[in-house]
Amino acid sequence: MKICPRCQKTYQDDSLNYCLDDGTQLTSFAPVESAETIFMGHPPVTSPTAERGGSTVPVGWTVPPALLAHKQKSSRAWIWIIAILLLVILVCGGGIGGMIFYSYGLKDDTVSTSPSGPNSPALSKAKADQIRDGMSLSEVRQLLGSDGERFSTTSGGGVTFENYRWTDTNYAYVIITFRDGKVFSVSKGGFKE
Ligand SMILES: [Zn+2]
Repeated sequence: MKICPRCQKTYQDDSLNYCLDDGTQLTSFAPVESAETIFMGHPPVTSPTAERGGSTVPVGWTVPPALLAHKQKSSRAWIWIIAILLLVILVCGGGIGGMIFYSYGLKDDTVSTSPSGPNSPALSKAKADQIRDGMSLSEVRQLLGSDGERFSTTSGGGVTFENYRWTDTNYAYVIITFRDGKVFSVSKGGFKE
């Protein structure tokens, strides 16, 4: 391919030596074309580190030291902002978690006093008064008409203490400590006389 330096007209026929329009001597177009090919084949490469930082400074560009220092300072500030945000999220998340945990605890209490729970029959003061030391758990269960709920167990020195509670919807309660399966102490109240 050849090109006319005066009118920029290109000629596919390499046997032509002079422009058909103005008679100017044609120059070979090949060197220009190859230069263009090189340019197109190698787009400007950006540094991977610059890209990660969101910068589009191509490789080979010299960044003034003052600008570089400013960039480093601002990126460090971003790290601090992100760290503080994460801390806030953690603290808030912990607070929300605590609230959920707290509301679950409340829900548990509601369940244990609900009529459909294990303590559904209303507690009778007359029957609770019949509980005597040395009674077995099954005797107490038969007397109160429900299984109750074991809420703690303590073992030590070959002795086991189990704490059971019976509650009803009227907020009456019977709390019994069993020593090796036998009534050891009774605490009761809230009965409607
Ligand atoms: Zn020409």
